[in-house]
Amino acid sequence: MVRVVARTLAEATRRVLGSRRRTGRGPAAAEPAQAGDAALAADLEAAIGADRVRSDAAARYLASRDASIYREGNAGPVCYPDSTADVVACVQVAARHGRAVSPRGAGTGLAGGAAPLGRPVVLSMTRMDKLLEIDVDNGVAWVQPGIVNLDLTRALAPHGVHYAPDPSSQAACTIGGNVANNSGGPHCLAYGVTSAHVLAVEVVLSDGSVVTLGDLSAEPVGYDLRGAFVGSEGMCGIATAVAVRLTPDPPAVRTMLLCFDDVSDAAATVSAIIADGIVPAAIEMMDQRCVRAVEDFAQAGYPEDAAAVLLVEVDGPAGGVSIASERIAGIARRYQAMSVRTAADEDERARLWKGRKSAFGAVANVMPDYYLHDTVVPRTRLVEVLESIYEIVDRYDLIVLNVFHAGDGNLHPILAYDSRVPGADERVHAAGREIITMSLDMGGALTGEHGIGVEKREHMSRMFSEVDLDQQARLRASFDPYCRMNPGKVLPSAHSCSDIAALRASDASGVWG
Ligand SMILES: Cc1cc2nc3c(=O)[nH]c(=O)nc-3n(C[C@H](O)[C@H](O)[C@H](O)COP(=O)(O)OP(=O)(O)OC[C@H]3O[C@@H](n4cnc5c(N)ncnc54)[C@H](O)[C@@H]3O)c2cc1C
Repeated sequence: MVRVVARTLAEATRRVLGSRRRTGRGPAAAEPAQAGDAALAADLEAAIGADRVRSDAAARYLASRDASIYREGNAGPVCYPDSTADVVACVQVAARHGRAVSPRGAGTGLAGGAAPLGRPVVLSMTRMDKLLEIDVDNGVAWVQPGIVNLDLTRALAPHGVHYAPDPSSQAACTIGGNVANNSGGPHCLAYGVTSAHVLAVEVVLSDGSVVTLGDLSAEPVGYDLRGAFVGSEGMCGIATAVAVRLTPDPPAVRTMLLCFDDVSDAAATVSAIIADGIVPAAIEMMDQRCVRAVEDFAQAGYPEDAAAVLLVEVDGPAGGVSIASERIAGIARRYQAMSVRTAADEDERARLWKGRKSAFGAVANVMPDYYLHDTVVPRTRLVEVLESIYEIVDRYDLIVLNVFHAGDGNLHPILAYDSRVPGADERVHAAGREIITMSLDMGGALTGEHGIGVEKREHMSRMFSEVDLDQQARLRASFDPYCRMNPGKVLPSAHSCSDIAALRASDASGVWG
C-alpha cells in the first residue's frame, strides 16, 4: 500500500516539475507571496525584529536558488537570524504555521541543496559569522555557521594554525554549508574532508530544541550523532555553532607543476605517486582546455601546450618534503612529463593555486553556461574514466573542461554550453546522466563532495537498495520526525512520503501541485 501511494506521488511530482521546467537562462520570477505568508511574516518579525525578515519578491528570488542549474526553488519569508535564540524563534513560528524551514549559507552549493521547496521559511545564516572562541592549546575553535571558510583560516593565521578543508569556493562558502555538505577541497587528500575537522555541532532541531552533537573529548561516548549530522544537507536540523579542529601550519610546503603531453600519462602519474606510498597534501589535475581557459582568465603560468597538468603539493617537516618532492619528480619523468617545475617562492605558489581555484570562473570565457559534474571514481580507473568522458561529450557535441581532485578520484567534468542554442540543455542533461552511469559502472559514487540535493536525488536508487534508502529515511526522521527541515532533498520521492505530504500541505499551488 505504502509503495503504491509513494509511486503515485512520485509520478505526480515528476509531472508537475516537468510542466514547470524552464529552459534557457531567463530568471524564474519569484512566485507571488500567498495569503498565509502575511501572518507568518508578521509573527516572524515579532519574534526576531522587522529588520531581520524580508518577504519581498527580490529577497525571495535570491533565496530561491544556489549555484547549481536548478531553478525551481520557491522561498517563503526570508529570515536573517543573529543568534541561536533567533533561529529557535523562527523554527517555532514556522512550526506553528505548519511551514517547513530551509537553512542556507552562501548559496554556492552545486546540487540544489539550498533551493527551498514548498515555500518554506528560509533561514539565511550569513549574519551569524563570528569566530566565537579559539583554544590553540587544545586545537579547537567554536565558530558560528555563517563564517566564510577563508575568513576563518585568515583569522587563525596569526596563531600558526588553520582550518584544513579548503573548497575551491572557500572565498565565499560558509562553514555551515561545508558541514551540511561534508565538503572537500584540494587539501583534503592528506587531511580528510569536513567530517574529520568537526568535533561538535550545536543544532536547532525541528521542534525548536537545542542540542549539542559530539563533544571535545578525545573518545566521545555513545553513537556518533555528530557524524550523522555532518553531510545531512540541512535535513536534520540547523547548525548554529560548530567546534572545528585546528591544524598546525606545516613547517615546510612545496608546490610543483607537472606538465604532460598526454592526459593518460598525467592520470597514471597520480596512481603511481600514491602507489609509491606518498600522500601529498594535494594532487589536482586540469586538462588542456581547462588550462587554456585558466591562463586566459588568471595568468597562473600554466603552459598552454600541455595536454594536462598536475598541481602537486607536499608539506610537513622540511627533510620529508624534500625527499617526497624528489620522488614525485622522478615518477613524473618516468611517465614522460614534459616539465617538472617547483614554485620558487610564496608568490609563485599563490599564483599556481589561484589558477586552480579560478577554474570554474574561467569557464565564462569559453561559453556562457556550464554544468559542473561531481562524481568520484576509483583512482586506478582515472585513465579509462577520462577516455569515456571525452567519448560521451563528443557524441553529444559538447565541450568539456576537466578539473579535479585527482588524488582522491573526485571528478569535476565541466560541460560548457550555450543554453540559448535549441536542444543544448537536453544534450547537457543526457550527457550528464551518461557520466553518472559510467562513473557508477566503474565502481564509483554519485557525489564526491557537492552532495545530492535535488540534482541527484532520483539517482540515489542506482546506488542504494530500497532497504538502504528506507534506513536513511528513518535516520533522518529520528532527527526530524515532522519532516520540516529542508524537505524534498537527498532521498528519492518514494522514500520521503511524509516530506511530500508536508510540501503539498504548505504549498497547494507550488512546485508540488
Ligand atoms: C566555484 C565553486 C567551487 C566549488 N568547489 C568546491 C570544492 O572544492 N569542494 C566542495 O566540497 N564543494 C565545492 N563547491 C560547492 C559548495 O561551495 C560547497 O558545497 C559549500 O560547502 C556550500 O557552502 P554554502 O555556504 O554556499 O552553502 P549553501 O549552498 O547555502 O547550502 C548548502 C547546503 O547546506 C545547508 N546549510 C547551509 N547552512 C546550514 C546550517 N547552518 N545548518 C544546516 N544546514 C545548512 C543548506 O540547506 C544546503 O543543503 C564549489 C562551488 C562553487 C560555486
